Amino acid sequence: MTDTISSVRGRVIYNSRGQPTVEVDVTAGGRTGRAAAPSGASVGKHEAVSLPPGGPRASLDILADHSSDLVGTDPADQAAVGNILREMDGTPNYSRIGGALAYAVSVAAAESAALVRGVPLYRAISERDSYRLPVPLGNVLGGGAHAGRGTPDIQEILVCATGARSVRDAIQTNMDVHRQLGSLLSERAGFTGGRGDEGGWAPNMNNEEALEVAARACESLGYTLGKEVSLGVDFAASTQYDAGTNRYVYDRAGFENNPGEQLEFAADIISRYRLIYAEDAVHEEAFAEMSELARRFPEVLVTGDDLTVTNHTILERAIREGSCNAAILKINQAGSLHDAMLFAGAAQRNGIKLITSHRSGESTNAHIVHVGIATGSVMLKVGVVGGERVAKLNEMARVSGHDLIRGVAEV
Ligand code: PEP
Ligand code: MG
Repeated sequence: MTDTISSVRGRVIYNSRGQPTVEVDVTAGGRTGRAAAPSGASVGKHEAVSLPPGGPRASLDILADHSSDLVGTDPADQAAVGNILREMDGTPNYSRIGGALAYAVSVAAAESAALVRGVPLYRAISERDSYRLPVPLGNVLGGGAHAGRGTPDIQEILVCATGARSVRDAIQTNMDVHRQLGSLLSERAGFTGGRGDEGGWAPNMNNEEALEVAARACESLGYTLGKEVSLGVDFAASTQYDAGTNRYVYDRAGFENNPGEQLEFAADIISRYRLIYAEDAVHEEAFAEMSELARRFPEVLVTGDDLTVTNHTILERAIREGSCNAAILKINQAGSLHDAMLFAGAAQRNGIKLITSHRSGESTNAHIVHVGIATGSVMLKVGVVGGERVAKLNEMARVSGHDLIRGVAEV
């Protein structure tokens, strides 16, 4: 039996939002790796196209016609697998086969290579003498594109146990904050316990009230914000931005910001809540405004997500312009694992901190934990509760006992 790819098979399964997606099995050396693609709701303009117009079925039909292109390839050779997927697609942004298919095939191939070698996936992706675990960054309260009417415009208020000595402490702390926040919210009339796509609470309140109650949840557990526990925010500002008027429209809160006001709006939140993390505080093409924030807050992870879309060429522009000191890595924004690793390489060479991230529509897979470890990510943005989120946290707990893992990253 050789250890090259002998078969590639796909099927339609469902993500955490109940939407159909692709899952792929790649077999090599008698071992089968399996991966299912996640999907976003607040999608960057320059991301890989997730699925072609015909949906997952159309992706899988193309795979069925071309799976022989992958047979005989070394599944550990991410560049080879990535290049075959690029050729199968033939467009600059995976609009023919879908980034979801590129994700599922390339991650399943990497998993089969890890199984053949008998090593954890993170070692099959990146060979190092030792590794550190990213610190979990979890959504405790959400709105925007991830929750319904009446919730905050801000997409995600996040918690990170910056003082935790172990990943288990960090996971437990995030869960304690989530639970405490739930009990504070339940004192409000009309709160039904509803949660958004990523498991964060989705109350009927404005941005200001949401930030206040999240801060109060941390403090009422005895934590000092910015010490043992810190807050972060994903503004996902592109979802508020109206290019026609050049205004950020906060329709739930009832105000609009011009670009200067948006910058001050974000800066005020960063200072007032001692944020450690600020993602997409301005829209996805506002490189200059992001630079201004990164200059003003060098201690904060001023992070690109829709800004950098796991695209190494776009990241290089952000680096030239000083637009961020941290960047989200979402494999399916790039397409294949190889594409995402090129992005990680560009970030590492330029001192950009990486945050490997879930999508709002997730699978129950835990591959991104391994990608976060392999890329030296300082944080893993995976939510706090919900089966598909906890699957990743539990994998972190399991992996934390491995011989080559040396504690958690310094944020
Ligand atoms: C995000 O914007 O960071 C996010 C995880 O949401 P989505 O997957 O909807 O892009
Ligand atoms: Mg984001």
